[in-house]
This record gives sequence, C-alpha cells and structure tokens, in this order.
Amino acid sequence: MRQHNSHRIAPYREQIRCITFDLDDTLWECKPVIHRAEETFYRWLQQNHPQITDRFDYNTLIKSRIGYMRANQHQAFDLTRLRKNWLRQIAEKCGADEAVVEEGFHVFWEARNQVELFAGVRETLLKLKQHFTLGSITNGNADIHKVGLGDCFDFSVTSAEAGAAKPEQVIFELAADKAGTSLHQLLHVGDDSDRDVIGALRCGAMAAWVTPEEAPQWPHAVMPQLVVSHVAELPDYLLVAEN
Ligand SMILES: [Mg+2]
Repeated sequence: MRQHNSHRIAPYREQIRCITFDLDDTLWECKPVIHRAEETFYRWLQQNHPQITDRFDYNTLIKSRIGYMRANQHQAFDLTRLRKNWLRQIAEKCGADEAVVEEGFHVFWEARNQVELFAGVRETLLKLKQHFTLGSITNGNADIHKVGLGDCFDFSVTSAEAGAAKPEQVIFELAADKAGTSLHQLLHVGDDSDRDVIGALRCGAMAAWVTPEEAPQWPHAVMPQLVVSHVAELPDYLLVAEN
C-alpha cells in the first residue's frame, strides 16, 4: 500500500491547509501508558483510601472500571466524566471520602499524560507546522500541553468538548472550525482505520493511516490518501518541493 503513496497524495497535496493528529497510538504507544497510570492510581488508593483496596484487588478494580465503561458506552465521548462517575460509585460502596473522586482522577491523569513519544514526532510536528495549521483530535483525555507538545499545535479538539467521538462528523467539523478551514482542506492522521480514517473520509476530509504493520491489510473499499508506518514519514510526502 505504501508504495502507492506518492501517486495517491499528489492530486490532494495542494489543497491541504490543516493537518490534525490523533494522539494515542499515533504519537505514542497508549497501552503501557494506561497500564502504568492504573498502577500509579492503585498504589495511591492503597496509601490514601485503603477501604477501597481492602475490598478490590488491582485486577478486580480494573474489571469493575471496564465493566462500568462498557455499560455506559453512550457517555464514551467523555472518558474523564465516566472515570469520575465510576470512582464515585466505588467510593460510595466502600464508604470512602468523596474527595477520592477528584484527587484520584488527578493522580491517574497526571500519570496518563507521561507518555514516551515515538521517535521523531516532535521534530516532524514542528517541521509541518511551518507549512500547515496543526491540530489534535482525540477521543481520550490526553492533553497536548501535559505531554509536552503544546507548542507543536495551533489547537486541540477533544471528544468531551465536541460532545461526540470520532468517527462522528461533528468532531471533525469542530476541528475545521478551529482551523478556519473547510473539511476538504483538512488531512487527518491516525492509527484507527474506522474512527480516524473512515471518519475523516466520510465527512469530506483527507486521511493518512498510520500503521506499524509490515504488510497492512486495509479493511475498507475507500482508500486513505496516505498509508505510513510512522508520522515521521509524513514530510516526505507532504513537503515534496523541499526534499
Ligand atoms: Mg489512536
């Protein structure tokens, strides 16, 4: 798929005004970050609210949270609110202080934003920012400023503020509004073939699929304009005049 990149992007290159980036698993690997954040949160609970950890061991607490989130999928566009609501329920069940909700979320959130960027991410964003308006679009609660990328973006959009998550059109529309462009001038970059790529293409934006697979199998009929294994490859296709 990647060998056809130059061919596919060529007719679109001139119309790109804004590039938006998914965060988790596009700019850093998400799973180890969440895993570490959950462990940090649990240790904090053990020290500060043992009534909870006496009743829930680590795995039981994780299962409880996942179960709560699955049961409340309709609120999945606001993971912060979901996590706080879950924690409130747990606190009530265990007779823990209500303060655990805000404080506990903060402990998780601080750790959740301690990410290890994929190689070259920062340099690539700064390079592209010289030519395009750059934004982030996330369905999660990572924060571009907390992860140290605030200066690389002109704006950010979260599903919580949009009131809807990718692949819904409304979240891409909010990004285009913030960028001051129309959707057909926006290239969205992300790892999720449905939420990022099909979501963007369906609302008239362009899309770049980031996949580390050696021989990626694209699961849809309609194709993204680019397929890359890493965001650091983007300047090769988007800034061809300089290369
Ligand atoms: Mg992602």
